[in-house]
Amino acid sequence: DKDRAVKFIAETQDAMIQTGPTYKLPGAEKYIKSRMDLPIYQARVKLLLEISKAPTVIVVGETGSGKTTQLSQYIRDAGMDKGKMIACTQPRRVAAVSVANRVALETGCKIGSKVGYTVRFDDTTSRDTALKYMTDGMLLREAISDPKLSRYSVILLDEAHERTLMTDILFGVIKGVQKLRPELKVIIMSATLDAAKFSTYFDDCPVLYVQGRQYPVEILYTIEPQQDYVDSVFVTVLQIHQDEKPGDILVFLTGQEDIENVGALLQDASEKLDPKFGKLVVRPIFAALPPEQQMKVFEPVPKGSRKVVLATNIAETSITINGIRYVVDTGLVKAKTFNPNLSVESLMAQPVSQAQARQRTGRAGREAPGVCYRLFSEDLFRTLDSTTTPEIVRCNLASAVLNMKAMGVDDIIHFDFLDKPTTESLRAALMLIFSLGALDASGKLTTLGRRMARFPIEPQLAKTLISAERLGCVEEILTIVSMLSAPSIFFIPFNKREEVDLSVMKEFASLYGDHLTYLNVYKAYRQNKGNKTWCKDHFINMKSMKTVLDTRGQLAELCRKSNIEIRSSSDTDNIRKALVSGFFYNIAVLQDDGTYHPVSNRTEVALHPQSVLKGQKPKYVLYHELVKTKRYYLRVATVIEPEWAAEAAPTYFARTIT
Ligand code: ADP
Ligand code: MG
Repeated sequence: DKDRAVKFIAETQDAMIQTGPTYKLPGAEKYIKSRMDLPIYQARVKLLLEISKAPTVIVVGETGSGKTTQLSQYIRDAGMDKGKMIACTQPRRVAAVSVANRVALETGCKIGSKVGYTVRFDDTTSRDTALKYMTDGMLLREAISDPKLSRYSVILLDEAHERTLMTDILFGVIKGVQKLRPELKVIIMSATLDAAKFSTYFDDCPVLYVQGRQYPVEILYTIEPQQDYVDSVFVTVLQIHQDEKPGDILVFLTGQEDIENVGALLQDASEKLDPKFGKLVVRPIFAALPPEQQMKVFEPVPKGSRKVVLATNIAETSITINGIRYVVDTGLVKAKTFNPNLSVESLMAQPVSQAQARQRTGRAGREAPGVCYRLFSEDLFRTLDSTTTPEIVRCNLASAVLNMKAMGVDDIIHFDFLDKPTTESLRAALMLIFSLGALDASGKLTTLGRRMARFPIEPQLAKTLISAERLGCVEEILTIVSMLSAPSIFFIPFNKREEVDLSVMKEFASLYGDHLTYLNVYKAYRQNKGNKTWCKDHFINMKSMKTVLDTRGQLAELCRKSNIEIRSSSDTDNIRKALVSGFFYNIAVLQDDGTYHPVSNRTEVALHPQSVLKGQKPKYVLYHELVKTKRYYLRVATVIEPEWAAEAAPTYFARTIT
C-alpha cells in the first residue's frame, strides 16, 4: 500500500512539476503565478512524499511562506484526501474566514462550495465541501458528536506555536483518534522553529522545514516608556507617512476599541493632510469585523496613497498582508489570565513575549528591507518573557472541561496533555461545572450537562439559557447572552466619554442593572431598525450589533433543536433569576467601607465605571466578569436578591452569603 502511495505521489509529482498547482475551475488560473512564487511551492513534492509516508508530520515555516493556504490544496490535488474532507484548524475565526476566502478564489469556486469555513455562529460549508477551514474550537465541538472525526481523512492543526487552549486539547484528542483510525493523517503546522516538543509528543514524528524568505528589518525603540499608546501610534504613523518611502504600515494594537479610536484619529488627520503626501487608507482587522470587511485589508490601495492596517495579534502569524514595509508595535496584546484560587479570569492588555515581538517585526521584511517601530524601550524589551506561556496553563478551563466530558474523556486529570494545566485550575473547572449541575457526584456528565454542552458558549451562559426555559424568558436571555458574547456594543470615542455617561446611557439604563440595560439597547435598536444615524447618535457599534443578531439567530436555532421553548416574559425577576442560576459564583456583596467582596473569594472589587449601577451601589450584585486593570472591577452587573442565590445553588450557598 505504501509503495502504491509513493508511486502515486511520483506521478502526481510529474504532473505538478509540469503544470504547477492544478486548477480546475475558471478563475483559478490568475492566481497560479502568485501561488508558484510562494516559498512552500519549492517544497511541495518533498512535503507530499513525507506526508504519504508518516501518519503525523510537523511542518515548520516562516509566516507567509504559504503553509495555510497551499498545503491543504496540494494534499487535495494529489488525491490524498481519499474522498473524505480535509480540515485545517485555526485558533482565530478571522484567520479561518479570510484564509478560506482566499483559497476559494485560488481554487476558482464560491466560498461554501468546494472550499468552506466553519466558525462559531457561522458555518458556510455544504455537502460539496472538501476543504474546510475551521476554528480549533469548532473541530473540538465536532468531536463531541463524532468522536472518531470520521468525516476527515486529513487534519491540519495550524498555528500550533500559538498554543491556544483549544489547539492543545485537540492535540490530545486527535492523538487518541489516530489510535482508533491509524489511516488519519495529521499535520501540525507551526511558524516557530522550536518543534521538538511537538515531535516528541507525537511519537517522534518527522519535522519538515520550509525555507522562508526574510529581509533585514531595522528596529527602532522609544527612549522613554509611552504613557498613551493610542497617541504614540497616531504620531508615529503620521511621521512615517510624511517622512518615509512608499510602503504600507502595519500597526499592532490590543483590540477593537483601540483600533477604532486610532482609526478615527488617522482618518480625520488624513483628510486634513497637505495633498502632496497622498491619502492614508485605514484598514482595520479584528475578530468582530464582518467577513466582507476583513477581506478589504488585502486589497491594494490607489497609487500614491498608503495603506495603514490596524490589527490585533491576528496579523502576527495567522494572516499575512502583502506590501507591508513598516511595522508599528505597541508591544501589547490582550490575553487571558486565570487565578484559580480567586476563580478570577481577566482579559487584559499585557506585554507581549520577546518571541511575539520578533514575529511582529518580521512582518516588515517579507518583500523588501523594512523598519519596525517598537513603542517601548530596549530596556523594557529585555525584561519581556522569552516565549508566550501556553493558554492552557493560564486560563479558565470550565468550558474546555465540559467539552471534554461531553466527548467521553472521563479522567480529565490524567488526560494526555502536551503541557499539563495546574491541578488547582482543573479542580476549579470541575467544581464550577459540578456546581452548575453538569456533573454528578461521580464526575459523570448529567442530562443537564449534556444539554449545556450543545451550546458553544461558556457553561454559565448555557446554564442561564436552559434555566430561562423554566422561567419563561428564553427570548430575553437569548438577547442578553448574545449581547454579552459580542465585543464592545458601545463605540465611544475618547473625547466623548463624559457626554455618553451623562446623557445617552440614561435612555437605556435599567434600575436593575447592566444586563437589563443591554436588553433595552437591543430593543431600541430593533425598534429603530438598526438605523445608521440612530446608532451613531447613541454611540451604538453597528458592526457589533450585526454580530449580536447573527449570534442570536444561531442560538435560537440551537434552542429549537434542543426542544427549548422560546417564550417571552416582561417579569424582570425571572430574567434575573435565570442569570443567578448560571452565575451564582459571580455574586458580590457590598461592604461597610463601600467596596464589594465577591462571595467566591475576598478580593476587594468595585463596580465598573461604565456600570449603570455605580451611583446606586446595591447590596447584592451579580456580575458577568471580573476585569483587572488598575484594580478589580465587576463588569456588567445586576441587582439580585440573596434568596435567589440560595435557591439556585443550595449547597454552595449554605455558608457563603453574608
Ligand atoms: P503561512 O500560513 O505560511 O503564514 P499563508 O498561506 O497564510 O502563509 O499566506 C501565503 C500568501 O497568501 C501570503 O503572501 C498572503 O499574503 C497571501 N494571502 C492570504 N490570504 C490572502 C487574501 N485574502 N488576499 C490576498 N492574499 C492573501
Ligand atoms: Mg498560516
